[in-house]
Amino acid sequence: AKEDGRGRYRMFEASMNARIQARRSLELDLRRAIARQEFALYYQPQVDARTGTYDGAEALIRWRHPERGLVSPADFIPLAEETGLIGILGEWVLRTACTEALAWPEHLTVAVNLSPVQFRDARLAATIRNILAETGFPAARLELEITEGSLLQDEQRTLSILRELRALGIRISMDDFGTGYSSLSYLSRFPFDKIKIDQSFVRRTPHDKDSAAIVRAIAMLGASLGMKTTAEGVETDVQSNFIAGQGCDQLQGYLISRPVPADAIADLFAASVPR
Ligand code: C2E
Ligand code: CA
Ligand code: CA
Ligand code: CA
Repeated sequence: AKEDGRGRYRMFEASMNARIQARRSLELDLRRAIARQEFALYYQPQVDARTGTYDGAEALIRWRHPERGLVSPADFIPLAEETGLIGILGEWVLRTACTEALAWPEHLTVAVNLSPVQFRDARLAATIRNILAETGFPAARLELEITEGSLLQDEQRTLSILRELRALGIRISMDDFGTGYSSLSYLSRFPFDKIKIDQSFVRRTPHDKDSAAIVRAIAMLGASLGMKTTAEGVETDVQSNFIAGQGCDQLQGYLISRPVPADAIADLFAASVPR
């Protein structure tokens, strides 16, 4: 039994080592990738739920790894956060999104995801102000998507960061709404412009009555609080029709389009403008 235990321990140790190795090599890759510019932004359109016309797009980062191929953000954003690399990466995302969205018709917005690590940086508003000045992108066309993780610090600090950003003319969206804890109280404490209804509810709507009720409740909540609502992860016509019928303002999901490269979204938007 003793031997058996030690053997198992050795196997556990070996797999731990393998995992630490894999992590280290990914971290090294990540540092190199920033220098070699292996990142790209894909864009997923957001449409007006009533008219079906484009409102803008959300920027989603992709890593074109020379050996691993297209790496999903879920596989490297957490590592970038732990290693602090998210600072440079996040700045690159903001600058690139503002530059690429300049090519779009003037009424369209670009939404950028912000990591809680970036949100905690005292220089955030100054950094963004500089990027807007350098690129010439109008603040009014930039939206920042933040998650609950950004709101967990000191409330006064969070409020002052949000006010600073909004004073620049930037709009703030509460991402993944309905997941996590006490999200409801965040809506009364912080000045959001938009609520993004989490995909998990959208996916089960309308066949799951509880999810459908939650989508309806969030759409009503947004309307009464003066916040726009966006349903993300819309994949079917049935979902789209139901959600639009609940008074939700915007739709985003594979039904409309998967995230596409910068040149493709520019073409899509250009073709949608009557000329
Ligand atoms: P998110 O911000 O909630 O983004 C929505 C995710 O849902 C994206 O995954 C998008 O491709 C996917 N999606 C959109 N429509 C559908 C649909 O109809 N069905 C399904 N099944 N999925 C859909 P993606 O691009 O893999 O990004 C995952 C997460 O990584 C994002 O979740 C966001 O939290 C993070 N992320 C992506 N880009 C950035 C970035 O530039 N900075 C930061 N900090 N995080 C990012
Ligand atoms: Ca998002
Ligand atoms: Ca989301
Ligand atoms: Ca509405």
